[in-house]
Amino acid sequence: MTTELLFRDDAYLTTASARVVAVHDRGIELDRTIFYPLGGGQPGDTGVLVRSNGERIAIVDTRKGDAIDSVVHLPVPAAPRPEPGEMVTLEIDWPRRYALMRLHTALHVMSCIVVAPVTGGNISPDKARLDFDIDMSLLDADKIERETNALIARGIETETVWITDAELDARADLVKTMSVQPPRGAGRVRLLKIPGIDLQPCGGTHVRNIAEIGAIKVLKIRSEGKRNRRVEIALSPLARSNTP
Ligand SMILES: [Zn+2]
Repeated sequence: MTTELLFRDDAYLTTASARVVAVHDRGIELDRTIFYPLGGGQPGDTGVLVRSNGERIAIVDTRKGDAIDSVVHLPVPAAPRPEPGEMVTLEIDWPRRYALMRLHTALHVMSCIVVAPVTGGNISPDKARLDFDIDMSLLDADKIERETNALIARGIETETVWITDAELDARADLVKTMSVQPPRGAGRVRLLKIPGIDLQPCGGTHVRNIAEIGAIKVLKIRSEGKRNRRVEIALSPLARSNTP
């Protein structure tokens, strides 16, 4: 069952209503959702489904389902299960998601500063990392931090662009991440564009304007194997978050 992915067009939706279409061992499927499912290094959303009788079903994780664009909401084991057909109100844990959006977008900006193939990456609410296939001597924490923050300070609007699989195949240079090839088979691929900074396939959630990141700090740089130099960042506590 395909789920309408509302977060793709508007990552700032914190609440929505949806109809339950399936309830099974893995979790709850809805006809539409604002919950982002784990993927591309970004964790699945958490939050609550509120039933019409006011009962609250805590969602501890969100994963992709079996079908393309299907999403499974994982409830806490003890939570009541809704019935297929019933309407629920969705609420995501917005502070957590917004931190993920800011850090995720920060990784896009940083990937413009560290020019090397990306071999991995991960985002959590309090820190994020990218792994690069690069010589350790080329990574300077202070320089990465300073230059990334200088780009963030430009306050550029982000854009979502869709291209066809064929167009992507013709633009192999767009794919920076060696370990995560963009999903194919749906006929089109979603790109994040930060004009003048970054353009790459990404299905995750991003902030509208990179100024919302505030600033980052580099927590550490370390070697994680021959082709993995890991750069870990966090949002700078000095930066003011422009929560919308
Ligand atoms: Zn992204």
